[in-house]
Amino acid sequence: MSFRSGRHHLHIPGPTNIPDRILRAINRPTIDHRGPEFLELGLEILEGLKGVFKTSDPVCIFPGSGSGGWEASLVNTLSSGDRIVMFDQGFFATAWRKMAQSLGVEVDVITGDWRRGVDGKSLIEKLSTDSQHEIKAVAVVHNETSGGVTSRIDWIREAIDTCKHPALLIVDAVSSLGSIDYRHEEWGVDVTIAASQKGLMLPPGLCFNALSSKAIAASQDAGLARVVWDWRPMLAANREGFFPYTPSTNLLYGLHEALIMLEEEGLENVFVRHQRLAEATRQTVSAWGLEIFCRDSAEYSNSLTAVQVPKGSDADLLMQIALKDFDLSLGTGLGKLQGKIFRIGHLGSLNELTLLGVLCGIEMSLQIANIPFRKGGINAALEFLRSRKC
Ligand code: PLP
Repeated sequence: MSFRSGRHHLHIPGPTNIPDRILRAINRPTIDHRGPEFLELGLEILEGLKGVFKTSDPVCIFPGSGSGGWEASLVNTLSSGDRIVMFDQGFFATAWRKMAQSLGVEVDVITGDWRRGVDGKSLIEKLSTDSQHEIKAVAVVHNETSGGVTSRIDWIREAIDTCKHPALLIVDAVSSLGSIDYRHEEWGVDVTIAASQKGLMLPPGLCFNALSSKAIAASQDAGLARVVWDWRPMLAANREGFFPYTPSTNLLYGLHEALIMLEEEGLENVFVRHQRLAEATRQTVSAWGLEIFCRDSAEYSNSLTAVQVPKGSDADLLMQIALKDFDLSLGTGLGKLQGKIFRIGHLGSLNELTLLGVLCGIEMSLQIANIPFRKGGINAALEFLRSRKC
């Protein structure tokens, strides 16, 4: 590719832009991961992460991407042939379901609409037929990144409690943690999965499992084979501030800095910033006359917006133009949504003027791609952001 001046605009819904402070933190010599200097780092990040997940229970850090976090959540809690409930929520929920099936878990799928969040009522119907408590877990994606739809995890908890069902609640918060309010302990989640490359503003390479005491107890009897993902040696080593095998030391330097940054801004302020930038994006999309993929405004994602292009238009062409002409990367439509939608990532290290640049790049690309839209979208964002509304 020929030389491109200035910064690349990375606005896929993760990996996200890495702040210079984090890059500088990572760019240091690796230390002995069994030495005293590491101990301080290990203890600080393991404690600091609890605040981001809103839990007082342990959070495991593994080398891997979000998919590794999925696998860790399943192999530590389940045995071959166990039944679990999952939802037909989108591309990522589908990939997680296939993983569970490959591991030998029986999955009951609650059918759904990728344009809507999951529904507590259908879960009540499903669990109330399980009087023998054969269902061992309910696994749900908080923020489905393929469609930009956020589900109510507190409603899922309520549904499980209504049925007085002992199933574990396992939640994927890969594209919500650090961007959209998430409450592991208050919502009674047993395992929360997250990854480094989204709201935490880090490169890909770390994944997390936040646990509950019930999940830790379940891991003693779980029969699926596990070695690298095993919580037990991880928790034992973490109690001393260390890891059972070589950790991703330099990513942990970055994580340490990310936790400081989130604390400086204040986690609640981080959520408000995401909500505000997401709303500016949605106002722009609506003013363009394009449709937001998520059908229910109460379920709009604050970390990304998936936008439908009109029938006969090609979302991938728009993305190609945005990249070629404006050095702007947008998220592609995944699976059955390819060509039909594009996704604007507005999560992580982001502010008003960066977002406006992205929206301008999209508007110019819409025009070049001959996709029918109304003018005035950028003005809608300007008005909204100037009004300082949330
Ligand atoms: N879950 C969600 C909600 C995601 O958005 C992603 C990836 O974007 C994953 C899981 C899979 O994570 P990874 O690609 O890091 O393995």
